[in-house]
Amino acid sequence: MSKTHRIQHLDIFGPCALESREQMVPVLELAKKLGITYVRAQVFKPRTNPDSFQGLGQEGILLLQDLKQTYPELKFVCEVCSEKQFEAVKSIASIIQIGARNMQNFELLKYIAQKFDHDYVLLKRGFANTYKEWMASASYLMKGIAKDKLILCERGSRSISSPTGVSLDFMCALKAHKEGFQVIVDPSHGTKDADYVLDLATAAKAMGFAGVMLEAHPEPAKSVSDAVQALSLEQVQNFFTE
Ligand code: PEP
Ligand code: MN
Repeated sequence: MSKTHRIQHLDIFGPCALESREQMVPVLELAKKLGITYVRAQVFKPRTNPDSFQGLGQEGILLLQDLKQTYPELKFVCEVCSEKQFEAVKSIASIIQIGARNMQNFELLKYIAQKFDHDYVLLKRGFANTYKEWMASASYLMKGIAKDKLILCERGSRSISSPTGVSLDFMCALKAHKEGFQVIVDPSHGTKDADYVLDLATAAKAMGFAGVMLEAHPEPAKSVSDAVQALSLEQVQNFFTE
């Protein structure tokens, strides 16, 4: 079902987590080739299980600083779960991501609203949060951040019907879009299955959202986190036209 699509300013792709230079260089090369500006570069990973990979942390930040020298035209999207993590990534990240699990971390929202000085802040809808709660969290950010600096990201809800346990909620995304927000759709966490990611990304593009966020890895099966939904770089390239 997936076709090729023109790149939009807020189309984002990259690995679930930054793992190594060897992993990231092919991702950055593809971003450069396609003309994609924002690349996922997650150094802090909120994980359900404490023994799962938690991100490279400070080592990852040093790696990103180094990669930035080679790829000055590319910009990084970094998730933060705490004030401390915000302070750690603030000079290397251009988009500050607030993930599903922290959508209602109100103290974090207030802190970011005060300290933000970046291209965008990206607020995901929590997987068990309502549209109204998502809007309320957006309001916390807009106490200090202009609406046009805010990106809302739909990443699916816990589902009683979906075979993978998550359903992308296009109604939520469309309503936010109609309210004048810049909305992007994350069909990677929204499907948890690489076989379906591009079909739902195609749907998101057809609905006119501001972009999609795709998880991809040079060797998807070796992805240390979210391997089930990782696209190959070839799949990403084929999805977008140049
Ligand atoms: C992510 O995008 O890296 C992520 C953890 O997603 P979510 O917060 O939607 O689970
Ligand atoms: Mn992930």
